[in-house]
Amino acid sequence: MTAMPCGRRSEDLLRLAADGPAADPDLARHARACPHCGPELARLDNHWDDVRAAAATPPPAPPGLAERMVDVLRGVRGTGGTYHGVAEGVRVADHVVVMVVRRVAADAVAGLGHVRAVRTEADTIHIGLAVRYGVAADALAERVRASVLAGLAERVGPVATGVDVRVVDVVPPPIG
Ligand SMILES: [Zn+2]
Repeated sequence: MTAMPCGRRSEDLLRLAADGPAADPDLARHARACPHCGPELARLDNHWDDVRAAAATPPPAPPGLAERMVDVLRGVRGTGGTYHGVAEGVRVADHVVVMVVRRVAADAVAGLGHVRAVRTEADTIHIGLAVRYGVAADALAERVRASVLAGLAERVGPVATGVDVRVVDVVPPPIG
């Protein structure tokens, strides 16, 4: 607790500044006449004005944020991260493309491995394959690549100009 030279407590002045004169009419009356409490209350009032203004005003966006957002959105449109344009006025959601790719790739793998990951980027579909041990990984990857290109063109439209297949894992052969 801090006492003013007149004996009043600065905490009470702070509460008065925060809650208004009605919170403590006696102290408010005293502060109007007291050479110590008056200036202190005015100072605290100014401070609370700042706090109230800060609370009422949304924080300013960091410099460059708007520009970065526009860049991000432009990137999304450009790469088809959300939608893929397949014809004039026709767009296909990215998750639809990913589902189709997963299905087509899984059919092409045909039990010789697993589709581990599918993601789209720009005009390229990236597929991560786990290949069963003993299977020729390059031949399988190429079959998946060709199947996905053809399957997309047939089922969705001209979504991707490239399919990038990577063998990311090897799984043991089936028991028996
Ligand atoms: Zn005073």
